[in-house]
Amino acid sequence: LVQRMQGFGSTIFAEMSALALEHDAVNLGQGFPDTDGPREVLDAAKAAIDAGRNQYPPGPGVPELLDAVAAHQDRFYGISLDPRSQVLVTVGATEAIAATILALCEPGDEVVTFEPYYDSYAASIALAGAVRRTSVLRFPDFAVDEASLRAAFSERTRLVLLNTPHNPTGKVFTRDELNLICSLAREFDAWVVTDEVYEHLVFDGGEHVPIATLPGMAERTLTISSAAKTFSVTGWKVGWVTGPAEAVAAVRTVKQFLTYVGSGPFQPAVAVGLGLGDDVYAGFTRTMQAQRDVLVAALRDELGLPVSVPGGTYFVIADVAKLGARDGLAFCRELPARAGVAAVPVSVFHDDEDAARTLVRFAFCKREDVLREAARRLAQLR
Ligand code: PMP
Ligand code: GLN
Repeated sequence: LVQRMQGFGSTIFAEMSALALEHDAVNLGQGFPDTDGPREVLDAAKAAIDAGRNQYPPGPGVPELLDAVAAHQDRFYGISLDPRSQVLVTVGATEAIAATILALCEPGDEVVTFEPYYDSYAASIALAGAVRRTSVLRFPDFAVDEASLRAAFSERTRLVLLNTPHNPTGKVFTRDELNLICSLAREFDAWVVTDEVYEHLVFDGGEHVPIATLPGMAERTLTISSAAKTFSVTGWKVGWVTGPAEAVAAVRTVKQFLTYVGSGPFQPAVAVGLGLGDDVYAGFTRTMQAQRDVLVAALRDELGLPVSVPGGTYFVIADVAKLGARDGLAFCRELPARAGVAAVPVSVFHDDEDAARTLVRFAFCKREDVLREAARRLAQLR
């Protein structure tokens, strides 16, 4: 394995899902839902297969999906895009992240991001030979620390990699925090790459603010999202990137040689999903918020753990020190055997592991009865 990929052995999700399987544990580790998404979307994929759409789709994505992504950005955020030049379909958000960083960063360029970070960020930055500079978000509120964010920027900063709503913290960045990021990006003439895969999972009536909608940002922002979370199809791997035409063209150049194209029949199906009514989106958010409330109550009220109540995403972070844990990774490696539940340690998403030594991430994208069963099992740890 090449030097720049040393230390990226196997993802924490694979490790914890394997343990969950081995011990027949309730898997609150890897974030994937246990309920299918909208029927119309699933049926549309079958219809596309039956209609013979089984050969290579066009490189940038099938026209109806390009149109649907542009229409979605306009409908929810008032962002206007030319579907042919400003939208690119990718193999999940994961490919969009990798292709974008590979397209924008020369070896040695710096990428500013927050930690904890989604694990593919560090790996994609490393693949590009770029250098990661991070600012720590601290439990329990995970607020942006202005001084540490500013200190992460330099004349070598090429881009800022943002994620809101944020995995693994569940944090939804505030407008003030986004404005700070904008002003630093402008000051250091950096691109902003924003991962918004949880855009439709913002709770308590909160608002998802795409950074591309802030003044002067559309021309320096590439926005990434995916069908995985919004339509509960994490196995379909349909994502997209939108932004200025020249930047999207650069990402397309890289994407051609990573995967050439994405899976054909799922693309028209995702287009159907993006066209569903506002009530479908709202119902999904409501369901997930109710599931959040079940898991938060179990961890905070029943187990008595300090918890950061997430404003969005699939995830809640708890501090398990009160259960006698001194190390979250060791705790999570034992948890499936000990309690029949799987979770993931937050420290693996950090450069500064001490910032999250006893923090553990639990996923609540599961049916309420499953979450209650997990709660019952976790209660034995008291
Ligand atoms: N970004 C974040 C923040 C995620 O949590 C995930 C994974 N679920 C992804 C990207 C990857 O999305 P996809 O499955 O569409 O590649
Ligand atoms: N994004 C999901 C999570 O954070 C799953 C990612 C994965 O398995 N690579 O749990």
